[in-house]
Amino acid sequence: MNTNAKILDGKALSQKIKGQLKTEAAAFEKKMGRKVGLAVVLAGDDAASAVYVNNKIVGCGEVGIRSFELKFDGSVTEKELIKAIEKLNKDSDVDGILVQLPLPNHIDANKVLGCISFKKDADGFLAENAGNLMLGNPALSACTPCGVMELIKEAGIGLSGKNAVVIGRSNIVGKPVALMLLEQNATVTICHSKTQDLAHYTKNADVIVASVGKKHLLNGDMIKDGAVVIDVGINRVDGKLYGDVDFDSCLDKAAFITPVPGGVGPMTIAMLLKNTIKAANLYALK
Ligand code: NAD
Repeated sequence: MNTNAKILDGKALSQKIKGQLKTEAAAFEKKMGRKVGLAVVLAGDDAASAVYVNNKIVGCGEVGIRSFELKFDGSVTEKELIKAIEKLNKDSDVDGILVQLPLPNHIDANKVLGCISFKKDADGFLAENAGNLMLGNPALSACTPCGVMELIKEAGIGLSGKNAVVIGRSNIVGKPVALMLLEQNATVTICHSKTQDLAHYTKNADVIVASVGKKHLLNGDMIKDGAVVIDVGINRVDGKLYGDVDFDSCLDKAAFITPVPGGVGPMTIAMLLKNTIKAANLYALK
């Protein structure tokens, strides 16, 4: 039995990465005579979205990215949002565009997101970028999966030949993280809402990424000794945050585990900033 699970500290790693990004952003500015720019589009008055947007803008300031905040009230039309995005696509001071989700109910989010140029797709959600990830080409990849991979890399965890189980198959977390694990030569299984006997898969996994949105779906009885457990889930219950993993019950068995909060969460913003600088270097320098 392993009683010494190492806790993967996303807060510390995100700070370290932001330090590196600061240098990269400064190098871009020196070369181009302008800062890397990220535009953040917010529509409506969802309180959580306002907090997320604010955190992203603060992150931009920390690394020297210029942020542009575009706020619309909840009655904004699809046409108005699309017009704003098309303007940002043409703006040479803007390298990345992020539309904060959820959008108001009357707006077709896919239609709006689909108008972002793939070259400015800071969230890495668009078909072109998802396709390039699948093909193993350079891409602006989804931020949370990139954060998961950085945590694994920083801990020195080798993935080649390992059994990896991803729980959840969303386009923004489950599927891209599975492709990234595969790219690192893990043998990947994707479990989802229709999977029968989840524990059968997780008990055989060397690495588990839980990205479902169900408090404590995975517990210590469902993992093997020495497993690497990455918890993407964010579940707010009675004002408190919980992951998809029952952290305490996994501590004795896991070799590595991420906490919630303080694990994957802080990495997502760091990866958004990284993607924005990557977009600037890939597309603005040419
Ligand atoms: P989603 O709702 O789009 O997808 C959830 C997935 O879980 C689905 O593919 C579904 O098939 C699967 N699922 C549902 N019930 C299941 C079950 N009982 N067993 C196995 N699989 C099951 O969610 P998402 O956008 O991928 O987000 C997942 C979680 O990650 C949420 O809690 C979300 O808040 C969190 N999240 C965190 C970050 C971060 O920065 N840390 C970023 C994105 C999402």
